[in-house]
Amino acid sequence: MDVIDSRPYDLLIGESWRAGAEGRTFDTFNPATAQVLARVHEASAADVDAAVQAAHAAYETHWRRTTPAHRGKLLRRLAELFERDREKLAWIETLNVGKPITHSLDSLKGMPASLEYFAGIIPALRGETIPVGNVDVLNFTIREPLGVCALIMPWNYPMTLTVNKLGPALAAGNTVILKPSEVTPLSSMALARLFEEAGFPPGVINVVNGPGATVGERLVTHPLVSRVSFTGGTVTGARIQAAAAADVKRVTLELGGKSPLIVFEDAPLDKAVAVAAGDLIKNSGQVCIACTRLLVQESVREEFLGLLQQRLDAVRIGAPTDPATEMGPLVSAAQKQRVEKYVGLAAEEGALPARYGQMKLEADTARGYFVPPTLLLNSHARMQSAQDEIFGPVQSLIGFRDEAEALRIANDTRYGLAAVLYTRDGGRALRMARGLQSGSVAINTGLRTSFDAPFGGYKQSGIGKERGLEAIYENTQLKNVKYDTTI
Ligand code: NAD
Repeated sequence: MDVIDSRPYDLLIGESWRAGAEGRTFDTFNPATAQVLARVHEASAADVDAAVQAAHAAYETHWRRTTPAHRGKLLRRLAELFERDREKLAWIETLNVGKPITHSLDSLKGMPASLEYFAGIIPALRGETIPVGNVDVLNFTIREPLGVCALIMPWNYPMTLTVNKLGPALAAGNTVILKPSEVTPLSSMALARLFEEAGFPPGVINVVNGPGATVGERLVTHPLVSRVSFTGGTVTGARIQAAAAADVKRVTLELGGKSPLIVFEDAPLDKAVAVAAGDLIKNSGQVCIACTRLLVQESVREEFLGLLQQRLDAVRIGAPTDPATEMGPLVSAAQKQRVEKYVGLAAEEGALPARYGQMKLEADTARGYFVPPTLLLNSHARMQSAQDEIFGPVQSLIGFRDEAEALRIANDTRYGLAAVLYTRDGGRALRMARGLQSGSVAINTGLRTSFDAPFGGYKQSGIGKERGLEAIYENTQLKNVKYDTTI
């Protein structure tokens, strides 16, 4: 499928598709071949300012006064267009991120429904009347949009994460500036072309590309931006929070994780193994909620490991465009280097790295950024390799003796994004669910986020919630009004 433009991708500012004011472009790569895939125009500070001005003007002149029904109609139309172009968007995601095409198609399947969901919950944006001390005073609340929202994206799931941020921001009546990751901007650019066709007026959605240190930082510190919604690494998130604090912007941060998969001896081991293997293989482990610490009760540790090794030995690694491929490359040379560095560190710390899979590379993929599934055997909880987010196909295997030790190790991390546990003991499952310091907990099932349930991290995994009803509230502010009815 011919889905990539040969000319550089433009910025979208107000009604115009255009090059950056300073004429710079940057390359984006196909990680499976290490070849340049496309060129993209880079926004200058003046372009970011122009995008913010366009979003602010659209908000002030008309968008803030649109009816819920109108915003819902536009989001539903966008959902239809997404469905029409879903296959094309999936191919772009595969070529730019390196995801196997079967995975790209699968992960985009739910996106039209996500847009429809946010269109459907707009009526939840209601205020209430509140009886206050003076019976002559009518007291009521109004839920209002925030204004211009900056949406700053990572590279691992460019399309799904963008849709799940855009939906609630627009549904709530805000205008947006989207800043895709400079590593994987192409699927967002293809999505941006659907906005106008869906009927969104110029300025409601703007797209600026370029590095975080310039384009991202300019957005975060711009006085007309009211809210920053960021998904990315914890260090970047902390930096954004500090920058946004200067003028007290609303900030939502979806950050890193080091999620545990906790397997008790009464667990259906085949199911727990499927989750462990799936999290290692899916998007080559570059998933914020992936379980990267396998905590397995000592009595079943050997059996669990045997089954897991059997599955990992069979993983088909290769060209992401091949429908038979289960695991593609990492996103970039830098990410591959980071992962290999951590595997080396784990060995120095006394863990035993073991590698699996059937890697099948051809002439064109020989230089791609492939890393095989890797288990760090003999790990323990305080090793740096078991504490830091590696963001690749690497899992630490750690044993535990009893429930108390499992909980202690699970919580022994600065992250708190997600946790999975397998046990047939209902009481223990619920005790663990209460005790885990984690924004999401899955019991006897793998973690799969859904657009209609709240998602967000505890501890250094983030602030605020995205998805579900909470996402639309996060995009609004609440005004209290008092009216003296005697006058
Ligand atoms: P990153 O933090 O390097 O970059 C994310 C975005 O921030 C990019 O668009 C980048 O240009 C921008 N940026 C960088 N510095 C900036 C600055 N100073 N000001 C403003 N913007 C700036 O993250 P990444 O490497 O693209 O993504 C991987 C990380 O994302 C992992 O840590 C992963 O766990 C996390 N992630 C979290 C979730 C979640 O929902 N919690 C989901 C996906 C990925």
